[in-house]
Parts: sequence; structure tokens; C-alpha cells
Amino acid sequence: MSKTYEIAVFSGDGIGPEITDPTVKILKNLSESSSEYALNFNAVEAGAAHYAATGESLPAQSIKTAKKADAILLSAMGLPDVRYADGTEISPQIDLRKQLTLFAGVRPVTVRAGQNCPLILPEGKEIDFVLIRESTEGLFHSQGCGEVTKDEARETLLITRDISEKLFRFTFELAANRKKAGRGPGRVTCVDKANVFRAFAFFRELFDKEAEQHPDLNADHAYVDATALWMVQKPWDFDVLVTENMFGDILSDLGAGLMGGLGVAPSADIGLEHAMFQPCHGSAPDIAGLGYANPFAMILSAAMMLEWLGIKHDNDALIADGNRLRSAVEATISKGDVLTRDLGGSATTNEAATAVQSLLELEIA
Ligand code: NAD
Repeated sequence: MSKTYEIAVFSGDGIGPEITDPTVKILKNLSESSSEYALNFNAVEAGAAHYAATGESLPAQSIKTAKKADAILLSAMGLPDVRYADGTEISPQIDLRKQLTLFAGVRPVTVRAGQNCPLILPEGKEIDFVLIRESTEGLFHSQGCGEVTKDEARETLLITRDISEKLFRFTFELAANRKKAGRGPGRVTCVDKANVFRAFAFFRELFDKEAEQHPDLNADHAYVDATALWMVQKPWDFDVLVTENMFGDILSDLGAGLMGGLGVAPSADIGLEHAMFQPCHGSAPDIAGLGYANPFAMILSAAMMLEWLGIKHDNDALIADGNRLRSAVEATISKGDVLTRDLGGSATTNEAATAVQSLLELEIA
């Protein structure tokens, strides 16, 4: 009998519900046509609108459901006009990363032939690399506790041995899996600023220790400023990059820019026990309710979820469906006839999602 995986679904704020509904519909169709696995979805409350209505941004029951689930699917949370009394925004997605110790922020950057990209790719070149952003410490460790006086402001960066060792182990395993799947040469680059800061020399030392355990993979280093340059000049050369939280925050938006925008940039936040999958973008309040938000980043994040569940539970059908779903989105983008406005088309959210579903069905038929 096939195993059922529980998925906690945060449909979130703004365009969140609009992109969550068609994504869950596609996942349900995949699950119903598989004899190898089943998915069961549990809707979970959290976010800015929930806070405005109830005074709670991330209810204890929601954390409990998220912790019990096999995976978490989240759209986007936060609304610029809904804030805590101290003036900061409601961001349960960041709280979840910390509470569930989701230290590895996985940001794939993929540009296939035919896909819109601000760079002109040399003949035969495609972009396919993964940026891993540490997501629980680094400069974000200081969030909410920076010190500001009349004359100066201080924020402290934290790099710990514990989280860095887990992060690098995860990174090398991911590079090995990519190599096995024929998606990369098995090369891991540590992105830091070890020429200036002791904290990054420490980060690099821990990276090198982990690299010694993987003689079958190549390991090298790059400074973050040079990495930004090379992401524009020769992004096809990268395979797997790993970096600190703030550097990763900035470089991942550069990665989304290479892909043609936030509407096609997926992500995952992964820890040892839990994992959360969500698009890189926010709740896009400027287009919420208009029906033309791009669902592709959310669907690609769902594809990452299937692949991760498959690898974790040794279930080839889940891995295959994750790959098929990703390929169906990439093919829809390459065909170019059903694209939302952010990609230069005029399709609605549902039309774009239906185009992906149709390609999946064509493949089955
Ligand atoms: P945003 O990502 O929501 O929007 C930036 C721009 O990209 C907007 O013009 C928006 O219309 C467009 N955009 C984003 N996603 C799109 C999609 N799927 N399809 C088409 N266009 C899309 O960033 P923002 O405006 O800075 O933030 C809005 C809110 O989202 C804020 O409250 C912010 O705190 C929150 N936020 C949440 C997350 C998250 O949940 N992970 C991430 C970033 C921002």
C-alpha cells in the first residue's frame, strides 16, 4: 500500500491563496494518479491578515500542525500596512525558519534554452546552479536586537560551528545528488568574505573540513563581491554555491533576476527534521485579487517538495513526479504562449497553471 504524506499548507497573504489553490490542485492530480504515494493537505492559518483579524500571526496550533507534517508548503506572508506595535512587519515564514531550524535555504537558478533572461547566453549554454543560503543565523541573527544610539548603530553577525557543519554536510550531499542525476559536475563553492572578516575565515575553515570528506566532489572558494560579478558574466559555470544568510539574501535576488523575475524563482528551507517550500517572492499586494499573479514559482517550489520527499523517503515515484512537474513548468515557459504579465504574456493565474497541468497530462497520455 502506498504511503500517505501529510502536507501543511500556509496559503498566506496577498496573492498567496491565488497561487496556492492551483498548485495544490496540480499536486492532488499527481497524487491521485500515483499508486506509489498519496498526499494529504492540511490548511494552516498564519500571516498578516490573520494577525489583523485575531491578534495572532503564527498560532501555536499552526506550528504544531507544521511540525507534525512531512513537508510544509507556503506561499507568501506579510502585508506592508499590517505591523506589530514596534513597527516591524509580520513575517511568520522567518519565525518558522528559526523555530524549525531550517538552516539551508535552497535557491535553484535555472535558465533553459528559450527562457527569458536579461543576459544573452552563448550558444549551447544554459544556467543551472543552486545557491544555498544559511537561513537561521549570519547577520540575520541580529534581527530585532540591533543596538541604536543617537550616534551609532550596531548589528552582530553570528556563525556557529554547529549550524555551519550541518549546512556544509547538507550542501555536499545536495551536490552529490545533482551529480548523480546528471545535473552538475559535483562542484561546491563556498562564498564568503574571508579576506576581511575572521567570522568568514572560520566559516571557510569549517567548509574545508567538510570538503575533505568528499574527495569525489570539487570544492573551491569565491569572495561574495566576485561571485556577484561572475553571476552576471558567466553564471553557467556555477554548480552549487553555499553562503551566509545576508549574502545569500542578496545573491538569491540576483539569481531570480537571471531567471526573468521573482515569478519563476522557487525556494526551499530545509533542516534535519523539517522542510518548507515557498516561492522567493512576497505577497505582491499591488496585484493581489486581480487574478494574474504568476503561479510558476509556487509550482516549482512544490516540485522541489516532491523531489525532497522522494529523496528523504527513498520513493522514486515522488522524485520522478517532482522532475516531471519542474520540466512541465520549464516547457510552458519555453513555449511562451501561456505566460502571465510579469513574463510578457497576458494569461491569468489559472490559465498559466492549467497550461502546466495540460503538459503533465500530455506526457501521461
Ligand atoms: P513582492 O515579492 O511581494 O513584490 C515585488 C514585485 O514583484 C511586485 O511588483 C509584485 O507585483 C511582483 N511579484 C511578486 N510575486 C509575483 C508573482 N508571483 N507574479 C507576478 N508578480 C509578482 O515584494 P514586496 O512588494 O517587497 O513585499 C510585499 C509583501 O510581501 C511585504 O509585506 C513583504 O514583507 C512580504 N514578503 C514576504 C516574503 C515571504 O513570505 N517569503 C518575501 C518577501 C516579501
